[in-house]
Amino acid sequence: MTSTADSGEETVVYDLDPDCTLEDVAEGNYYHATVNGVVDYGVFVDLSDSVSGLAHESNYEGSYEVGDDLVVELTEIRENGDLSFDPVELEEYETVEVGHDYDIADAGELGDEIGETVHLEGEVVQIKQTGGPTIFHVSDETGVIPCAAFEEAGVRAYPEVEIDDVIRVTGTVEERDNALQVEVDTLDVLTDGDADDVRERLEAAFEERAEPHDTEPLVEWPALTQMFPDLKEVAAQLRRTVLESRPIRVRHHADGDGMCASIPVQYALEQFIEDTHQDPEAKRHLFKRLPSKAPFYEMEDVTRDLNFALEDQARHGQKLPLLLMLDNGSTAEDVPAYQNLAHYDIPIVVVDHHHPDPDAVEPYVDAHVNPYLYDEDYRITTGMMCVELARMIWPPITEELRHVPAVAGLCDRSKADAMTDYVELAEDEGYEESTLRAIGEALDYEAHWLKYDAGRNLINDVLNVGSDDEQRHRELVSFLADTAESEVEDQLDAAMPHVEHERLDSEANLYRIDVENHAHRFTYPAPGKTTGEIHDRKVQETGEPVITIGYGPDFAVLRSDGVRLDIPEMVSELNEEIVGGGVSGGGHLVVGSIKFVPGMREEVLDALVEKMADAEIDEELQSTTVGHEQDD
Ligand code: MN
Repeated sequence: MTSTADSGEETVVYDLDPDCTLEDVAEGNYYHATVNGVVDYGVFVDLSDSVSGLAHESNYEGSYEVGDDLVVELTEIRENGDLSFDPVELEEYETVEVGHDYDIADAGELGDEIGETVHLEGEVVQIKQTGGPTIFHVSDETGVIPCAAFEEAGVRAYPEVEIDDVIRVTGTVEERDNALQVEVDTLDVLTDGDADDVRERLEAAFEERAEPHDTEPLVEWPALTQMFPDLKEVAAQLRRTVLESRPIRVRHHADGDGMCASIPVQYALEQFIEDTHQDPEAKRHLFKRLPSKAPFYEMEDVTRDLNFALEDQARHGQKLPLLLMLDNGSTAEDVPAYQNLAHYDIPIVVVDHHHPDPDAVEPYVDAHVNPYLYDEDYRITTGMMCVELARMIWPPITEELRHVPAVAGLCDRSKADAMTDYVELAEDEGYEESTLRAIGEALDYEAHWLKYDAGRNLINDVLNVGSDDEQRHRELVSFLADTAESEVEDQLDAAMPHVEHERLDSEANLYRIDVENHAHRFTYPAPGKTTGEIHDRKVQETGEPVITIGYGPDFAVLRSDGVRLDIPEMVSELNEEIVGGGVSGGGHLVVGSIKFVPGMREEVLDALVEKMADAEIDEELQSTTVGHEQDD
């Protein structure tokens, strides 16, 4: 601020806002001041809350009392920040109000400000009480920075501040453990117009920064590219969620395709979190991925997720999460879990390729992307969709993802024409088709043993995404795939002699196996995969339409090739027709699983076989087996 009281023009006297600082004053200017102390050698005057100084008695006549208003000239600003004033008597002057001219810093660009005092304005997105200071995570247009305020060890500082409040922080930028944070000097909650201004600025910036990238599809495939606008909206919502520091919780099907879907999305989001959050812990807090054993969101899983989310909210001051369902989540079986979440502010986004029930699901979800909604089918696997989704979120990871759609397609036995292109794309990166299959087998094998764990780094190494040792990846995959194969051999050696065959009226072959009594339990492969392997052998052997049922005391796994089944439809019919059967289940049209009460097994299986016998033979004898089943 510069100004002089030139003769001829009207003299200006500045009136400082209480929050004005030394930055707002200049030598030679006139200011309104108030006496706050009288001493022998002069009076102390205040210009604002933090700007004050001395008027020496040699520079004025008369006397002042505390509380007197006067006009002073700022005669000197010393090196140490002390100010000297002369009281002045002015006949005529103009008063000019001075607001504090904050130079608001950018939370995302404090790297050059270490040791400096800065002002920040933003929204509180997390409040964490540590054993020492209270950490307010403040989000502005450029990033999120932790701001540490200390009241007393373990005591909540600024208890009036709540999540979503807009605040102004003044503090010192510090580096701790290679991460930046601001040590808070003052913190004020902004209200009314001030808060609205900041919110408007943030809103505009978030909207712009959430905008996903325009990417070219990895392969020319109109069936998939028609889904790009919807995938892009999901990408925008996920980026937006990160910017708002709302955690993302992924639940994905615990199989090869489910991992090919979730690992790239995790990798992309972690890069984006790192780019937007100063706190190195943010990646861990803001993203969690867990597998679902069942091909739907079980009550047990949702209860656990909700419980953790509420604990994180209470203990770590986090927002409630967004739920992202991958390779899972499109069916009516997911609805009870969604209804459970609906009691809380937890948005749900679904990307899946299981046969969907949009009428049941869509009242509960924010977004639902599924190839069936575009008259396509399971052949567009979730891994294929999610590699494109991940690239929209964070394109630089593209190089590491080129082989993933092929693995996803092979895992789910996609018969899409685009598979040729995907496999070629992977071959260009040095992956033989046999290697891609081995990766799929290895993923399946690890998913089995990981059970309810995500296997964060292990799965990255198996899939070779975000992993740093190519050699180890290859050796690991080959070991796991070989081991899995030999365990499947052992299982089938025991099971094959017990497979029963009958020819249905439709001429289709029906094979049945009691996987409870004629296969090893609690080992690899589980009943679903055991049934699938038997099925594949019979398809090869006969070259004819084949249906395979692997059953246990209260469940059956279904596979079919060359027969037009509609398993979800059969399940709902069985549930109506067999009173006291307790039939439930579903999956894909031709691959699925059903559950029933043990005492009604014979009735349910007989009725099931009858329905299968009625099913039409598929002219093209198209193999439509997909690796989706309840694997328990
Ligand atoms: Mn899948």
